[in-house]
Amino acid sequence: MEIRTFTGGGFGENAYLAVCADTGAAVVIDPGAGTPALVAAIQAEQIDVRAILLTHAHIDHVEGVFKVRGVAPDASVWIHPDALPMYRSMPNQAAMFGVDLDPLPEPTDHFVVGDSYDFGRCSLEVRFTPGHAPGHVTLCEHRVGVAFVGDVVFRGSIGRCDIPGADLKTLMKSIRGQILTLPDTTVLYAGHGPPTTVGTERVGNPFLIPHYGGELA
Ligand SMILES: [Zn+2]
Ligand SMILES: [Zn+2]
Repeated sequence: MEIRTFTGGGFGENAYLAVCADTGAAVVIDPGAGTPALVAAIQAEQIDVRAILLTHAHIDHVEGVFKVRGVAPDASVWIHPDALPMYRSMPNQAAMFGVDLDPLPEPTDHFVVGDSYDFGRCSLEVRFTPGHAPGHVTLCEHRVGVAFVGDVVFRGSIGRCDIPGADLKTLMKSIRGQILTLPDTTVLYAGHGPPTTVGTERVGNPFLIPHYGGELA
């Protein structure tokens, strides 16, 4: 699997293009402000985008869905049902940030936790990781050893929990139950910042190491 990153906007959001190296089948994950460059690559290289996969429904992760659909009209759009209310209220989110937003297409499919989304020889397991946003999912390619974690965990940090729909306890449960249970070598591709690994965050992330008393948050 080849993974390319397209970063953009004031939030520095990472959109990912994941291409099956054997078949050329591809998916777009969280098309944000970097979408124009992503769309240009799709067009220039005639990339076969099968689906747009959304980890959660914050505006910086979905604002490019319409543009990707413009060059891949048959691509399905996937989101977790719990994220739908926020996705559908995107005009309000856009207005809050003073952003002009293309209308977002209605999702075509709903993620089912535990199922996998397959493209070419790649297979992304859907893990339920709420806490930062309702219906947040993490997508894990176990054979390759990578996970697209959205805004659950970052290099040296974790997702914001001081925003509507967020809850720190729920987020910590998601990280410990769904992310730190992956092998240490798993590469984590986050919604913001550089990639990291499970092992790096397990021992080095100040939000995840035990407090001095030995207790886990
Ligand atoms: Zn977010
Ligand atoms: Zn984000």
